[in-house]
Amino acid sequence: SRTLDPDASIRATDNDAALARLSAVQKGYIEDPFVKHLVPRAHLQPARPPLINIGTFVRSHGIDLLVEEWLLMAKASGKKAQIVSLGAGSDTRFWRLETGTLKDEFVKYIEVDFTEITTKKAMSIRKSKEMNALLGGAQVSLNYCVLAGGGTGLRSSKYHLIPADLRAPPSQALGSTLTSIEADEGPVLSPSLPTLIIFECVLAYMSMEASSTLLEWFIGYASSDAGVLGCVIYEMFNLQDSFGKMMVNNLKARSVTLPGAEPFPTLDSLVKRFTDVGFSAGRALTLKEIKRTYVDQPELERISKVEFLDETEELDLVLDHYAISWGLYIGNGSASTWGHW
Ligand code: SAM
Repeated sequence: SRTLDPDASIRATDNDAALARLSAVQKGYIEDPFVKHLVPRAHLQPARPPLINIGTFVRSHGIDLLVEEWLLMAKASGKKAQIVSLGAGSDTRFWRLETGTLKDEFVKYIEVDFTEITTKKAMSIRKSKEMNALLGGAQVSLNYCVLAGGGTGLRSSKYHLIPADLRAPPSQALGSTLTSIEADEGPVLSPSLPTLIIFECVLAYMSMEASSTLLEWFIGYASSDAGVLGCVIYEMFNLQDSFGKMMVNNLKARSVTLPGAEPFPTLDSLVKRFTDVGFSAGRALTLKEIKRTYVDQPELERISKVEFLDETEELDLVLDHYAISWGLYIGNGSASTWGHW
């Protein structure tokens, strides 16, 4: 129960994220043929309100753009990319990328979440012929982590699903798995390849200390072999005003607290988080700005016709309390390829 295990309410947020994605897919806002395999009884799930669906569309669009850019920059630099999704939950980005035009631009896609979540996800993936086939069949091994026992994750040549608590000291927990060298292969994560780490709606659930330590670990690892590191973070921010407080209270009512969200009242504070831990540069935009500036006009028109939306003012308020921020660490001065990100 939640009182016995305070992390249960944090893990439950994955279900919310998956249902929101499913709803946006079923209504036609976004395309994702895989999410239905990860949500039990997908066809029976109720749709989310239009406002949530539009938010899911903008969030997904913004992160997709940054991931695509990362893969194209890697290509321009002559290297293959790696992607690490921390707190990946039921995300389907690996399968969407693997069936898209940029599939040859990345060599590793690593997902990390609590053991309970990765165990469930590993099971759903194994049950889906479609998802399994994209892992490269025979290479799939069920016993990712010897210590954690069997069936808690997945490993293929490209896709890895790793159980770990992101708050644990990286050098002992996640970091030791990512740097471990197996048989005649290199480490799971290579320090010399351009690596993009993604925290989609995850860092708010961790303390600032824990997330800083984790970000510093990734920078340290990249710097150990002249690597380039990018980081995309999506989260609520600006929670100090009355609307923000209401959002926080809604979560508290479900036992979810946001220790990592408090210090970020502004976009500048989100950028400063990157430079404080050693990134070379950072940028941040609200979902409201992303919708206005980074969604093409025909797409905006299409979205506006999907459902009738009464609460346009409320939509802007909601979108103003979510941000996508991104940071860049350049180890060996290859600024020409990466500098504009
Ligand atoms: N990133 C996914 C998405 O956007 O669809 C899931 C987001 S969900 C709101 C938050 C996820 O972060 C959950 O799956 C949760 O289990 C995971 N998470 C939160 N804190 C974590 C921690 N300390 N260690 C591992 N996973 C964590």
